[in-house]
Amino acid sequence: MGPLPKRKLSRRRKRNRRAHDALSVKHLVRCDNCNAYKPAHEVCPECGVYKGEVVFEIEEATD
Ligand SMILES: [Zn+2]
Repeated sequence: MGPLPKRKLSRRRKRNRRAHDALSVKHLVRCDNCNAYKPAHEVCPECGVYKGEVVFEIEEATD
């Protein structure tokens, strides 16, 4: 027998465990480009740069 769980997890137990998953806050890091806090592994919402590349241009608000 391999290292497998002895019993199938019941729906109740699985859902009970998953109930807390959404509570964790995303890990925030400083943007390399503009130094603003942004979620890790995501495009910076302030300057649109990810891994040193401009993914989208920030449009200036014009009236
Ligand atoms: Zn940025």
